[in-house]
Amino acid sequence: MPLKCLRGDDDIYSFNIESDEAWESLRKLNSKSKDLRMPCCGSAVVLRTSKLGTKHFAHARIGACTTAPETAEHLLAKLAVVEAIQKTDWTPLPEQAGETPSGEQWRADVLAVKNNTKIAFEIQWSRQDKIETGRRQKRYEEAGVRGLWFFRQKDFSVEKEIPSFRLVFEAETKSFRIQLPSPYYAPEWAGRGKSDFLFWKQSIPLPIFVEGALNGKLRFAPALGQKMPMEVSTVQIECWRCKKLTGVVNGLNFAVSRVLPGHTDIPTSIYDLSDELPNGEAVVMSMLPASLLRKYGVGVIKPRYSKTAGEEYISNGCIHCDALQGRFFEHEYIFEGKKAFEIEVEFKPERGLLLEEAKPYIYRWWFNEAESSS
Ligand SMILES: [Zn+2]
Ligand SMILES: [Zn+2]
Repeated sequence: MPLKCLRGDDDIYSFNIESDEAWESLRKLNSKSKDLRMPCCGSAVVLRTSKLGTKHFAHARIGACTTAPETAEHLLAKLAVVEAIQKTDWTPLPEQAGETPSGEQWRADVLAVKNNTKIAFEIQWSRQDKIETGRRQKRYEEAGVRGLWFFRQKDFSVEKEIPSFRLVFEAETKSFRIQLPSPYYAPEWAGRGKSDFLFWKQSIPLPIFVEGALNGKLRFAPALGQKMPMEVSTVQIECWRCKKLTGVVNGLNFAVSRVLPGHTDIPTSIYDLSDELPNGEAVVMSMLPASLLRKYGVGVIKPRYSKTAGEEYISNGCIHCDALQGRFFEHEYIFEGKKAFEIEVEFKPERGLLLEEAKPYIYRWWFNEAESSS
């Protein structure tokens, strides 16, 4: 069910035919002249309207053409993509075909073109496995086209090379939304069970997503290199040695969402930072110097020897007697910590790969929701 047909060498787009009257008169004209042709096979065309109300072209007779039929949802999504691209300085070319330098054919659902840059928006209403997606993406790459995928299915891979998102149809409004995988997303678990909502973080109307993607609002791993607040949580505990109350740091949070709206915050701890970063202990101590901690009733954070662990590690200490306060409270008081203060940090790009537990939070697609509400 294409949005495009041919008259001689000219492309005719159904969405350029604005009124119902104009659509009717084209129908009458074509039923006499029969000069409109299908782009797939050159056979005769009839004008149709889908069950979702989308004007489109169809084969006049079901014959030898092997082009797979499209659903009304697929057709409507294509039209929504076209209309969104029309709001930008890119040109939409639906059902655009091309060839790679090695002679392989491709056809994009909707190609967005600006100068020499080409982005193919692919709508996968029918299922497509990872291998096929990879194969088609490679073909696009060879043709100098960047492919961007909208999947109805919930399982696809999250990677920089193949931007992939979930396409959700809302029957009541006959509109689509794009959902972005959350840090907890796992293709093998998505779509199973009741906690499905956990797998999705951002939900953006399709037209806003497409327009934004073409205007630089779609980014991969945007937290890297970003300056942001780091929230420091503390809790009051009784020192095992002097029995007085002392504050200890029991949680750190890179507050990414405050600089990149819609992004998930990245939780971490003094232990993760000191274990995983080069010179980690020095990094933590310079972020949380003794003078700053003291203001908030927290003892010095520094390496101390633990008899229990049999080694030296970065630790909280009692503000009164400096005794090492073990790591246990991190778990015991995990829900009791309250944000006590915050510091400004830069999420250094080279640190992203080192923080093992933070990786799923970092290496994701993010859509900038900040200015997209206009
Ligand atoms: Zn055909
Ligand atoms: Zn003490």
